[in-house]
Amino acid sequence: MIDLNDPEVRFATEAVRLASQMVKTIQAELVSPALTKDDRSPVTVADFASQALVGRLLGEAFPDDPLVGEEDSRALRGDSATLEQVTGFVRRFAHAATPEAVCAWIDRGNAAPQGRFWALDPIDGTKGFLRGDQYAVALALVVDGEVQLGVLGCPRLSDACLPDYNGPGSLVAATRGLGTWTSPLEGERRFQRLYTSAQDDPSQARLLRSFEAGHTNLGQIDGFVRLLGVLAEPLRMDSQAKYAVLAAGQGEVMVRLLSPSMPDYREKIWDQAAGSLVIQEAGGIITDLDGVPLDFTTGRTLRRNRGVLASNGHLHPAALEALRQIGA
Ligand code: AMP
Ligand code: MG
Repeated sequence: MIDLNDPEVRFATEAVRLASQMVKTIQAELVSPALTKDDRSPVTVADFASQALVGRLLGEAFPDDPLVGEEDSRALRGDSATLEQVTGFVRRFAHAATPEAVCAWIDRGNAAPQGRFWALDPIDGTKGFLRGDQYAVALALVVDGEVQLGVLGCPRLSDACLPDYNGPGSLVAATRGLGTWTSPLEGERRFQRLYTSAQDDPSQARLLRSFEAGHTNLGQIDGFVRLLGVLAEPLRMDSQAKYAVLAAGQGEVMVRLLSPSMPDYREKIWDQAAGSLVIQEAGGIITDLDGVPLDFTTGRTLRRNRGVLASNGHLHPAALEALRQIGA
């Protein structure tokens, strides 16, 4: 059972729960009204607010621990209207919030990723967040290149980790050696263990891919599906919510192919750290497209890895072979 009395688990699950609740509020108050204007500013407000809140909570729980986050406050310091807005949202959850404190909490995230550190994606899947689809708050504890704890807040997944746009959302937490667990994101905590699917017939596999065409390679996805013999249409989904879906046995294979326009793209650690442990502790396997384990010792990006392949384990060898054949 996940140990909720463990100080790291308690901090990470509480920080992700509060940050998820806050960005959900920002979505309700800012995104929905802005959707018609093609306005990206709600994402900026939510990204900064989420990182500030987690930075603040980490400072209280583990003052000496470094945070590696996607954002830094430089752009925000020159935009006092947005900074005021961010501060207003953060203050609802952290009463000490002032513009200056909020910038300092965000900038905790500038630490170097080495030794023991926390990796944070304050909103993973910003495109999904703006579209009203899937997104996640992702926080992981990495120690000497090994992810020890991974927590995902998925406001638009159900208890069973299926899309649910009106429920309380889903909190998914994995600790090394103790499994992957889920609880409703809001209300009473009721943790249930998650397991990847036992499906070993590729024709019955459900494939998960990025919603955004620019984050993958559509031509290669078609070839991959054909060679693997997958019958169902791949499921398009933003963010590490995909990793929660796979961990819950609601999908079998997840692939991040390299976009033809950005063949040298390398994954960011905050996009993979939490989700990778969520998959492994549920019984799945995660590697890069060449079958190489993800290496979290190479800085803010996974420099030694190309793309990502995750699966329930049973289908990993066949998926790697199909990737090899399509030249991915
Ligand atoms: P997804 O929602 O699965 O497409 O993943 C979202 C993440 O993709 C974002 O957090 C970005 O960091 C990352 N991303 C941005 N550009 C690319 C790209 N060209 N290829 C792959 N991932 C990208
Ligand atoms: Mg991200």
